[in-house]
Amino acid sequence: MFAIDSKGMIHAGPLPKQYGADFLVLREGDGVYLKDAAGKSYLDFGSGIAVNALGHGREDLARVAADQMRRLVHSSNLYVTEPALELAAKLLRSGPFGAVHFGNSGTEANEAALKYARLYAHRTRGEGCFKLLSFSHAFHGRTLGALSVTPNPAYRTPFEPLLPGTETLPYNDEAALEKTLDRSFAGIIVETLQGEGGLKAMTPSFAAALNRLCRAHDIILIADEVQTGLGRTGAVYSSFALGLEPDIITLAKPLAGGLPLSATLIPGKINDLLKTGDHGSTFGGGPVTTAVASHLWDIITDGEFLAEVRRKGEVLARALGGLAETHSSGPLRVGEVRGRGMLRGLEILAPEDRTPGVMKAILAAAQERGLLLLRSGTNVVRIAPPLVIGDGDLLTGVGILGEALGEVFTGEL
Ligand code: PLP
Repeated sequence: MFAIDSKGMIHAGPLPKQYGADFLVLREGDGVYLKDAAGKSYLDFGSGIAVNALGHGREDLARVAADQMRRLVHSSNLYVTEPALELAAKLLRSGPFGAVHFGNSGTEANEAALKYARLYAHRTRGEGCFKLLSFSHAFHGRTLGALSVTPNPAYRTPFEPLLPGTETLPYNDEAALEKTLDRSFAGIIVETLQGEGGLKAMTPSFAAALNRLCRAHDIILIADEVQTGLGRTGAVYSSFALGLEPDIITLAKPLAGGLPLSATLIPGKINDLLKTGDHGSTFGGGPVTTAVASHLWDIITDGEFLAEVRRKGEVLARALGGLAETHSSGPLRVGEVRGRGMLRGLEILAPEDRTPGVMKAILAAAQERGLLLLRSGTNVVRIAPPLVIGDGDLLTGVGILGEALGEVFTGEL
């Protein structure tokens, strides 16, 4: 066993160095609080990277999973199970979709989407129409296909050359879109709010341009809702709320309450072209994950639940606005408050060479005070609490973040 120190940390543990050397060892969770292996409590403003939408220690999720595990754990894609059928029916009713492909992670959901887009272009237009477009600061996953549409050089460079036929345009640049697109593009993949890329939001006019140009050139429009979907921004789908009309939606993170499950929702016009063996997954859409997801779906698609997320999102945004005002001047300061619903970001402005150190110090100072936060891009503190958080805990967390900012900003001057 690896030694856990008095702060609940292990150093130089068994995981690959890509994750860094020092890890907080978490042991259990209850509601919006987590406890480490040394017994210290943390308010969770990260939800395991926007996953635990309903918080921790949920008896209802545990019961659904345990009941299903006793009945049947796995079936493979040679068969189908009732929980998968029930979830699929709910997902298909949520928009103009003809079928759902289940996988296990966000990157797999996007891999499937990119393959379906290429397959559609290939089977309707023939060879040569395979280009895939994504946007600056996008994040679509770490497998080689999804990485090929993720422009961040830090993630890509050691793995190049990646997929041929991928291009990147500036996010929200309608003129560039208009100039570039033609029928040689099979698909466009886009986030409505860039969860990993600094929380920049898609403008409604960019959404309208995407709708229009994808229709004009018969390009498959893929909305990556892995992070924004399923209530996180106060809507079932952030893209629909913005007026984006995607052909495909990809979902993962919160879908099965913390268990690995993804869904790629495809239109009838793609489903009609598919032949046996075109794509597949051994584990995707198993009965346990889909049973839990079906239960979670009923909770988070409820109108009152979503209205509460939007209301609490405004409470959070106002409180963060207060921090921005307090820390609006000096060499280290707060810039924009970004995001929607319960996915918010606080831009940290610092000289470029000091930014990584300042960001690390803010997250560490918050953690020391019992608050777990995320980062987005290079200089944005990302806040993605469980959607069930109450106003009191939200304000407590923002208060702790304020103390952490104060400590780091004054310490650095
Ligand atoms: N797409 C988006 C928008 C994401 O935020 C992420 C993960 O952060 C992914 C895809 C990849 O998901 P996963 O890590 O489950 O493969």
